[in-house]
Amino acid sequence: MAERRHIRELDPYVAQRIAAGEVIDRPQAIIRELLDNSIDAGATKVDIFLEDGGISLIKVIDNGTGMDREDLSICYLSHTTSKISTIDDLYAIRTLGFRGEALASMAACSKLRIVSKSEGNEAYTVSVRDGAAEGPVESGHPNGTTVEIRDLFYSIPGRRKFLKSPQAETAACRKMVVEKALMHPKIQFRFFSQDTLRLFLPENNPVGRIIDAYASQKFDPVFFTRLNEVCGNFTLDLTCSTPSLYRNDRSFIQIFVNNRRIDDFALVQAVQYGYTDYLPGGCFPYCFVSITIDPELVDFNIHPAKREVKLRIGKEIHHQIVETIKQYLYTEQRRSRGETQVSQTTLTFQGEDEPAARKTQEPSPSRWSPSASYAASVRPTYQPTVRKADEEWVSKAREIFSDEERPSYPVTEAASASDDFIYHGQVFGVFLVVEKDETLYLIDQHAAHERVIYEELKSQVAPQPLLVPIPFEVTDDVADYIENQLSAFKSQGIILEYSGGSWQLTALPNYARTLEDEIITFIQQEVGSPEEITRKLFATISCRRAVKEGDVLDDHTARDLIRKILALEVPRCPHGRPVWSEITREELYRAVKRLV
Ligand code: ADP
Ligand code: MG
Repeated sequence: MAERRHIRELDPYVAQRIAAGEVIDRPQAIIRELLDNSIDAGATKVDIFLEDGGISLIKVIDNGTGMDREDLSICYLSHTTSKISTIDDLYAIRTLGFRGEALASMAACSKLRIVSKSEGNEAYTVSVRDGAAEGPVESGHPNGTTVEIRDLFYSIPGRRKFLKSPQAETAACRKMVVEKALMHPKIQFRFFSQDTLRLFLPENNPVGRIIDAYASQKFDPVFFTRLNEVCGNFTLDLTCSTPSLYRNDRSFIQIFVNNRRIDDFALVQAVQYGYTDYLPGGCFPYCFVSITIDPELVDFNIHPAKREVKLRIGKEIHHQIVETIKQYLYTEQRRSRGETQVSQTTLTFQGEDEPAARKTQEPSPSRWSPSASYAASVRPTYQPTVRKADEEWVSKAREIFSDEERPSYPVTEAASASDDFIYHGQVFGVFLVVEKDETLYLIDQHAAHERVIYEELKSQVAPQPLLVPIPFEVTDDVADYIENQLSAFKSQGIILEYSGGSWQLTALPNYARTLEDEIITFIQQEVGSPEEITRKLFATISCRRAVKEGDVLDDHTARDLIRKILALEVPRCPHGRPVWSEITREELYRAVKRLV
């Protein structure tokens, strides 16, 4: 039995340090909070300096409104904020900060110095160390604020041990600068590490800002389009890529709500759905989604880093993202095919600084069915009439022809089954020959089966806890990768937890039950994003289970497979390869120079 201990009140400075750990876990969090403050203060220029990944020094200088003596003397205390005063204000917030905890947390876990000057006042400095403040004392500074954080976590050595290498921390900080900068292209940002300019983002338009921020990707602006929709109580601003620009992970599908980057898998998926018919499986677009929403309808106060939100109208937003993208792609495709009626579309192609957003018109379902329109536009304009076997003719033919003379064409089967296709059998040991709507399909049975299994697996990603968690070793890099991808893993049903000094696999989707080792190996080797890992798992399973080339399928199995595969919206195997090849009657006729 443990010895019973008496309860005592924590020393406020100890309590402060504990609370600080929630807001500030690494230099990146400080960058996030300081940039939020500079942006909230209306700065147009912000400089960020790091030394040793922010562990020795973080300094942010802005030209915002600054603080006067009185504000400066309390700004570093707990629960001091100029942004809200009542609980109701919390739901009307238009600023990035509101908890009044950031500077206080920094004061508790580092050596803090703030110099600030507001218009018409003198500049003052306060320094806080070990919970004790010095100042404000008069000093020199232009309008604006400088915040300096030295010796991060000197007061919480345990926390210090969790810091990564200076390079990793610098990279994380840089990422945060980019994240903030994307939503504020009118603000100039400069990011210095060890006194070297690492990132310069001059004032720009939104697309220009993306191109500057991801200079190493060498984006060409022609591949990006800005879309804007005003819908009742929210506005969507999308900067998205044409289908000719894509990548094999979701890292460039980024969601922002009221200028804060959030992790919201459902909205990332909405973007993917929008692109479904235009990108092969496993390919993902570049899409920056900025949602501006009435503060009443969103609650950021559920996550210390404000990385998650509660959206009261999440479904509507989801729907609108899908539709906006689909309509853009549909229009874009017709435009690139030279069809001129495109100009009638309800879509706006916004010029960079074109002002007012337009109201979305009621989408009419028929015009909005992209898969149908896409299919129609890639096929020849020739419209086949659906050909059904004439039962009367078949039975007459039966009577007239003797057994040998009866046409071998199995129309009777097709007519008797409720299927809308005719299955002609298998060729080359791998293709199922199918006739449907005046088109001949040669379906790759292995790829088709893989795809069908894949669809089934996809619906089973709910995590199932393991009875015994499986701990595994990781290097620093991999630990970093896991941390960054934690919520993405979660969305794939793979739950990883840090406990007892190591990472552990604690839950898995049912389908992956026998694949724990593979999953851990994939993670340890950082084979890619969690989505890629899932895709690899799916591909492994479906490839194992799927019928192979050379397998002879009985009629029933073949028909079942054909039925399922023809019902798919995107006929591609999980690796992105098409599942079938098709030839229309017209093409066949042409091939033999027969009159259509
Ligand atoms: P919050 O941002 O939640 O209000 P902070 O602890 O981040 O809390 O900041 C406390 C207050 O200090 C802010 O409300 C603001 O009035 C002031 N402040 C902080 N940083 C700046 C800055 N860069 N420029 C002007 N005022 C600032
Ligand atoms: Mg703040």
